[in-house]
Amino acid sequence: MDLNVFKDITYGMYIVSTIKDQEKVGCIINTLTQITSKDPIVTISLNKDNYTNKILKETKKCAIAILSKETPRDVITKFGFFSSKDEDKFKDSIYQEDSGLPVATDKICSYLIGGVLDIIDCNSHDIFMIKVIKTVKKEDLVPMTYKYYQEELKGKAPFKAPTYIEESKANTSSSCKYKCTVCGYIYDDAKEKVKFVDLPDDWKCPRCGVGKDKFVRL
Ligand code: FE
Repeated sequence: MDLNVFKDITYGMYIVSTIKDQEKVGCIINTLTQITSKDPIVTISLNKDNYTNKILKETKKCAIAILSKETPRDVITKFGFFSSKDEDKFKDSIYQEDSGLPVATDKICSYLIGGVLDIIDCNSHDIFMIKVIKTVKKEDLVPMTYKYYQEELKGKAPFKAPTYIEESKANTSSSCKYKCTVCGYIYDDAKEKVKFVDLPDDWKCPRCGVGKDKFVRL
């Protein structure tokens, strides 16, 4: 099966967040769909291993920020490639509180507040059906699409995203390759001007920003 075909499906980029006992959690998602317009309901999907999934099952309420093309790259890296289990992603982030929930608001278009109506088990992921109870327009910016993230920002899906494609399946050349253990980015000597071993010590993963020490040779 050609998994690249799935890249033709369009998505937006969002941050879903919630809070439990003062612990703010949140992560990037691209799988949000509006299901109904009257008494609006949306669905999102979250990996079962995702910490935000675990907490959202308990709190049953969340905020969903709709990212724009101007949402800073480091916001996407922080919320997309690290776990709320390990760090407070809202610390040092621009956010506000609404309805008792933390909302990531750095250059976003708008946000939704909602409650979980139902959860559908879907193999590696859960689908959360969410009744929207409030919508807030923030800035008149252009929403970020997943394609823009992939093609303009050269961003990729982290391991746990439903749209993740193993790079080994996306390209077939074989040579010296190094993989980022944080985000899965592959540095392929055959495609780069500089060999991985010759990169400067302060070189950073172009996808998630960690150093060379987080890479392993494949
Ligand atoms: Fe990385």
